[in-house]
Amino acid sequence: MPDLFIDGEWRSAVDEGTREIRCPADGSLVGVVDEAGGKDTVEAIAAARRAFDDGPWPHTAPDQRGDLLLRVADLLLRDKDALARAESLDTGKRLVESAYDIDDIANCFRYFGRTAASETGRVVDTGTEGVDSRVVYEPVGVCALITPWNYPLLQTAWKVAPALAAGNTFILKPSELTPHTAIHLMRLLEEAGVPAGVANLILGAGPEAGAPLSDHPDVDLVSFTGGLQTGRRLMAAAAGTVKKVALELGGKNPNVVFADADFDTAVDMALTAVFLHSGQVCSAGARLLVEDSLHDRFVDEVVRRASEIRLGGPFDERAQTGPLISQAHRTKVEAYVAKGLEEGAVLRCGGARPDGAGFADGFYYLPTVLDERTAGMSVVQDESFGPVLTVERFSSEDEAVRLANNTIYGLAGAVWTSDEARAARVAGRLRIGTVWINDYHPYVPQAEWGGFKQSGFGRELGPAGLAEYREPKHIWRNTNPAPQGWFA
Ligand code: NAD
Repeated sequence: MPDLFIDGEWRSAVDEGTREIRCPADGSLVGVVDEAGGKDTVEAIAAARRAFDDGPWPHTAPDQRGDLLLRVADLLLRDKDALARAESLDTGKRLVESAYDIDDIANCFRYFGRTAASETGRVVDTGTEGVDSRVVYEPVGVCALITPWNYPLLQTAWKVAPALAAGNTFILKPSELTPHTAIHLMRLLEEAGVPAGVANLILGAGPEAGAPLSDHPDVDLVSFTGGLQTGRRLMAAAAGTVKKVALELGGKNPNVVFADADFDTAVDMALTAVFLHSGQVCSAGARLLVEDSLHDRFVDEVVRRASEIRLGGPFDERAQTGPLISQAHRTKVEAYVAKGLEEGAVLRCGGARPDGAGFADGFYYLPTVLDERTAGMSVVQDESFGPVLTVERFSSEDEAVRLANNTIYGLAGAVWTSDEARAARVAGRLRIGTVWINDYHPYVPQAEWGGFKQSGFGRELGPAGLAEYREPKHIWRNTNPAPQGWFA
């Protein structure tokens, strides 16, 4: 069955392109999918444009749009096992994590299903006799939704659910490395009754299948999650037609531990913060900042436990984390570590591929700790997006904040302390979109997600996430029109 979904039909690519998808854990063939070129993308844009300009979806009552999203949430849970398995095969992620993600994804559809009808308008008190005036919220139009490979369906849900809730039509382009759950989602949208042309799926590489999405005049909004360099390129391409742009980019997230933190919990969560999904998490706590007096004891324990982390494939129930997504990505992580060592980092553990036949065909890399880093070095500035933790020391609250903020990114991070007043002060001074206090990684669809500085532009979740996909329009009605006679 063909894999591109355009104008309510499943199609193959016009130039018959295909791509093999292989599991990063062992190189086994997961499937062969259709791969679009630019012509397919332009057709998908035209279908989304027609569905927006002439179709029923933008004018469907918001609560009916919400009902469709709630049906999709139920279908996602019905197909949870198959979706989790597909996600794990494409990404190499542990099955238990993928299953957890599907629950999150269903919650996201449920949240936007329930809030679809919110903020449909407000009356404005103009103080002018004979006038009524109101602001209504309308869909932006045709949305290009471009997603990465690390949380393929979750990142997709964060865009598809609010875009549909607001009444837009869209073209989804998932990462070329992880297409299978996006295909499954489109089948569920079809089953839930989404009208033809509202939801379109293009598979393929960024420069070929994706590029028309950011400069085509019929696209109104580009919502992108991915790397900083790609985000900059898309923002520049979108400028030609002044598209709305929403960007969720990288992070170099500080995990700040004061000496009065709960030691066992802070150590445990420092490991989760950075080694979950082998560090391939935009909000990964890849920079550990530890108060001087605690440094040696804390880092020794992190290193001891990091050295014992068990690697394995998605269906290995003993594995605690899995492989990197591709050979190219592992090469990038290796180069990043080599640069850190050149700059004088102290390698405390990892820094190599694991030994053993079981790892030979996958893209594994050992959990790595680079100690004695100082601000300004490349390894504390650049995102590795791998299982690599850098450690910096600080000796005062001011220094902790200064070091934590010393990056071009501003996505997320944490502060660990038993002093509530200090936690509040530091949280207030960190220039990041999400601050966890004595915790790491949780998020909820009700709260906004997005980055300060070069981590992003716009918001994904919560009311502000929905607002990204809506345009406020002011409607002024003269209730008693009559000539004014200015030019009589
Ligand atoms: P990437 O930028 O390489 O690719 C992301 C997507 O963009 C893919 O679908 C790719 O095909 C597409 N793309 C590439 N060039 C394009 C072009 N010219 N036109 C249109 N589309 C194009 O990123 P990646 O390697 O897939 O993902 C990893 C990055 O994503 C990391 O930097 C990570 O921090 C970031 N990320 C951020 C968040 C967040 O919420 N801020 C969440 C997840 C991942």
